[in-house]
Amino acid sequence: MNPKEIDTAKRPFVLIWEVTQACELACKHCRADAKPQRHPDELTTVEGRRFLDEARQFGEGQLVVLSGGDPLARDDAIDLVDYGTNIGLRMTLTPSGTASLTPDQVSELADVGLRRMALSIDGGSAATHDDFRQEEGSFEQTVRAAKATKEAGLPLQINTTVCAETIDELPAVRDLVADLDAVLWSVFFLVPVGRGRVLDPISPERAERVMEWLSDVRDEAPFGVKTTEAPHYRRVAIDRGRNSTESGRPSSDGIGRRMGITAGNGFAFVSHVGDVYPSGFLPQTAGNVRNESIVDIYRNAELFCSLRDPNALRGKCGACEYRHVCGGSRSRAFAYTGDPLESDPLCAYVPENYDGPLPEQSFSRRDSTTAD
Ligand code: SF4
Repeated sequence: MNPKEIDTAKRPFVLIWEVTQACELACKHCRADAKPQRHPDELTTVEGRRFLDEARQFGEGQLVVLSGGDPLARDDAIDLVDYGTNIGLRMTLTPSGTASLTPDQVSELADVGLRRMALSIDGGSAATHDDFRQEEGSFEQTVRAAKATKEAGLPLQINTTVCAETIDELPAVRDLVADLDAVLWSVFFLVPVGRGRVLDPISPERAERVMEWLSDVRDEAPFGVKTTEAPHYRRVAIDRGRNSTESGRPSSDGIGRRMGITAGNGFAFVSHVGDVYPSGFLPQTAGNVRNESIVDIYRNAELFCSLRDPNALRGKCGACEYRHVCGGSRSRAFAYTGDPLESDPLCAYVPENYDGPLPEQSFSRRDSTTAD
């Protein structure tokens, strides 16, 4: 499948299913505000399989990410990977770094056709990662799982959250991503939802410098680099004279992920109880897979359609010449203004000749970290 041929008005590049909110960890940034116990109203195995059948209607090779919480907190997680693979989906998984994530389990996942393992590392050492994840031993268990992933022949992705608490760790995490032989580093710029509301984001100016740095990393590193909830990485890269988009190199990461996906536009999220959102960080629902088709919701729901229209954007994003390649984080706009079409307050850029209101720069007041 050539990802460039995919029409994001018709299908998402990435369809995330939060199979459960249960998790042994209690990470500081957790969007799901995960809890130790599974929710009694989670989609059942039968409902989950029906949902995967529907997702297959998007077309051959639809990418589905089983996420959480910890997806492996469900005892049918491996069966769901197996089922999705057998009907022609590309199944990937984002398990939590816990003692339950054993090399045997990783090997079993590889055997049933998992296409990629994505693990989170938010600090370059056990001390910093475990503090962020609120669990001693998580770093060691995550590194063990990363090595098992490589031994099982699975492509490895490392996810990292950028906020005031983790930003100084980025160079060390970059080195770790290389040491672990990952194919992709996915760098998530904090959106204040769930437990992440109590964390300090970075300022727009600092975000700009991080994106410039990431652009250099992408040029030099043996792995791909993409950003999440920071599409202005594309503007930064374009400004630096590159023909780039948000996700870094398009075809070197093993999944063939095309660049430039944002909430509702190439991206959809299904919650543990079946509610459909444009992103896990944008808590406006457009329907539920228990009684509607995910394909119909994605293609036709008013919320999704408006998020795919760059001319519907408001404020400086609406006036910006980069809105067709960037458009800003719709999740962050919603978190700060209650309107998903408003401007993204993490972006430092002000379009030429724009003299309208600027988004609240509350990040700046809260950014107490040192400069790079
Ligand atoms: S103003 Fe909005 S559309 Fe323009 S670069 Fe910034 S975030 Fe992107």
